[in-house]
Amino acid sequence: MPRAGGLRPHLKTEHESTRLSNRRFVLQAIFDDGPVSRADLSRSTGLGKATVSEIVGTLLGEGLVAETGQGSSTGGKPPTLIELDPGGRFAVAVDLGVRPFEAALLDLRGRVVADGHGKALAPTGREAIEEIHRLVAELVGKASAPALGVGIGVPGVVDATGRVVASDYLHWDGLGLSEEMEDVYGLPTYVAGDAEAAAIAEFGRGGSEPDSDLIYVKVDNRVSVGIVASGRVHRTGRRGGDLTHVTVPGSDLKCVCGRVGCLGTVTSVAEVLGPEYADLGSEARRGLSAETVPKLDQAATAVGTVLAPIIVALDPDKVVVGGLLAEWPIVPGLLADAVADCLGWSPAIEATRLAHSAVLLGAGGMVLSGELGVVWG
Ligand SMILES: [Zn+2]
Repeated sequence: MPRAGGLRPHLKTEHESTRLSNRRFVLQAIFDDGPVSRADLSRSTGLGKATVSEIVGTLLGEGLVAETGQGSSTGGKPPTLIELDPGGRFAVAVDLGVRPFEAALLDLRGRVVADGHGKALAPTGREAIEEIHRLVAELVGKASAPALGVGIGVPGVVDATGRVVASDYLHWDGLGLSEEMEDVYGLPTYVAGDAEAAAIAEFGRGGSEPDSDLIYVKVDNRVSVGIVASGRVHRTGRRGGDLTHVTVPGSDLKCVCGRVGCLGTVTSVAEVLGPEYADLGSEARRGLSAETVPKLDQAATAVGTVLAPIIVALDPDKVVVGGLLAEWPIVPGLLADAVADCLGWSPAIEATRLAHSAVLLGAGGMVLSGELGVVWG
């Protein structure tokens, strides 16, 4: 079943019943505004009091929300307030784009209640799948309430059914990851490219307007892009989302793909920082001042040049940069200069505020929007 990403509920989808749509509205209002009374919910959703009461009754029965005391009276009996029960369900989130893998058990507010780390530094193939199984089993075992599902961010191209079309880093080619996980755990599993997952997190947490557009570009040894268009995640599907092998002018570096001048060769850790820093951890890299990073300017310019046509096509409200390049505060400015050199203008470009947790939060967010139809934000 395709697990495509609608984010904030603002329209009833074609195949959705009114009942389900109303439930999403009420639950989202409790997420956003709780604690709230049933009368408040009726006002904010535009639904009748009887409908709201029925939905709230169901949500209480399911343990997703709780009654948390009484609001102030406006004359009569003080109203009972309803609030999300953050520990009512959990989501397991996995980020396969870091070495070793990282995983987290998130509550309904997106707070990390337990985390997990892969044992092997860089597992690939079947070994990587075994590592995911171990992490998911460990975290599901720590959940004090049912797990809603599993969300996984993959460094590679993933189609809308959760099949990994290709991941050079994990040596996967046409792997039905979502299907395999669902068979083993019986839990709905949402798989996306890591930049797509991060885009979901940035959109939800960055205060974006429901219908706005956002581009998230993740720049490491790989360069990948995640797009939220009119409030919906654009699933890139077959080959999209990976900019690593787009050739850029002025580079004669040989790429692992056999071609010359791929963007990924210009942005790789070894190229940007120098080979002696290739294995330096993220914390230590942050200690390096931008002036001492020899090829930061060159890398940011190459990324900006490749992003420019994507930007002019989508005309996004915001561009967010994550990954290696987000570690230096001057990078968004360098990117904006490079984009402006191509287009004559640039949208707002900013560094991620979620640092390396963006993929985990986005992976958890996919589970939340897929299973409950609501978003964090
Ligand atoms: Zn290449």
